[in-house]
Amino acid sequence: MSAPSSRLDATHNPDTLSWVESANTQDTDFPIQNLPFGRFRHNRLEPWRIGVAIGDRVLDLHATGLIDHSDMHRLMAQTVPERRALRVALWEGLREGSALQKLWADALLRQSEVELGLPCEVGDYTDFYTGIHHATTVGKLFRPENPLLPNYKWVPIGYHGRASSIGVSGQQFHRPRGQTLKPGATVPDFGPTARLDYELEMAAWVGVDNALGAPVSIANAESHLFGVTLLNDWSARDVQAWEYQPLGPFLAKNFASTVSPWLVTMEALAPFRAVFERPEGDPQPMAYLDSEYNRSAGALDVQLEVWLQTPTMRAAGNTGECLSRSNLRDAYWTLAQLLTHHTVNGCNMRAGDMLGTGTLSGPAPEQGGSLLELTQGGKAPISLANGETRTFLQDGDSIILRGSCQREGARRIGFGECRGTVLAARDL
Ligand code: CA
Repeated sequence: MSAPSSRLDATHNPDTLSWVESANTQDTDFPIQNLPFGRFRHNRLEPWRIGVAIGDRVLDLHATGLIDHSDMHRLMAQTVPERRALRVALWEGLREGSALQKLWADALLRQSEVELGLPCEVGDYTDFYTGIHHATTVGKLFRPENPLLPNYKWVPIGYHGRASSIGVSGQQFHRPRGQTLKPGATVPDFGPTARLDYELEMAAWVGVDNALGAPVSIANAESHLFGVTLLNDWSARDVQAWEYQPLGPFLAKNFASTVSPWLVTMEALAPFRAVFERPEGDPQPMAYLDSEYNRSAGALDVQLEVWLQTPTMRAAGNTGECLSRSNLRDAYWTLAQLLTHHTVNGCNMRAGDMLGTGTLSGPAPEQGGSLLELTQGGKAPISLANGETRTFLQDGDSIILRGSCQREGARRIGFGECRGTVLAARDL
């Protein structure tokens, strides 16, 4: 049995073109096969409206008459058949030759001319730790003799994060201050973090809720997930090292997190499913985290990239340098397993809750999804093509995450940009 959101239909046909010209270019993230949802407004006085990205435009969903509200949580909470019906209706209206072209052309705006918001009001935020290559490399830095704790291969490790500081692509934040313990010191210092880092992650967004006390089975998990975005979980490594024991991440993580503006739906990701398998010798997931479907198609093939643009690059008109590449397939747990595990004790999830994957590093050292990994804990600065170097982020640096799905027989789709910029620490 396959999850209903993973079924392929006419909306995935790679040959379909749109009457929106920019949706037909080879490099667009938003061809008609994608149709992700987000929120936009013309100015700050206006309430958020729900839009669909198509090429370099945004379609005002309310103006098409397909919905009669502007409540993204309500849209996300639709059943899978309702979600599929909306996707088909959008595809029908936007495809080349559609009778709706004249009507819908008036509902189309340039993305560059509107403000894109968070894709929805963010509910609770949980961050997992599914990147086993990240967990192993970082574990070695913190605990050389014992990098991967014995629970790692059995239980999807996570912690409760903070939703209030989550911002959308374009977010700028001041370098945080905090307590740190300098090497060899016995008393902590206080000041701006000297080891500011990014984390390349993806986030799954809950649509359909579950009642308190009612776990979501692995068979139903994906029907509760609405879509996926990119996520940068900014981290202050020196603050983290001093504060993380015994209760885990706290102020090292909650000063800013950045997400991309478009919810790429589970339906849009259907052509990019992948086999989920464990390396030889690793334990298989426990029964409540296992299903035939999860094994055959539970993983997702999403290619990920991290780009850095320094102030020097910006001044020179240089759009940035790629620091690393990896893939969501390298995650140790699937998105369905994360949701099922999160609810197995009866915890209730609600529309707009966000589940971070954890840092998605690839198996090779140059595929580290954070500077902590790429610089071996700050010991080996990386050299940039323009002659600059970095161990950790400097003021003015922008980090840009990108993601895309590409496969033989399918149209390439992308996630848009997840861009964030570090500002100097604020005066106290
Ligand atoms: Ca993280």
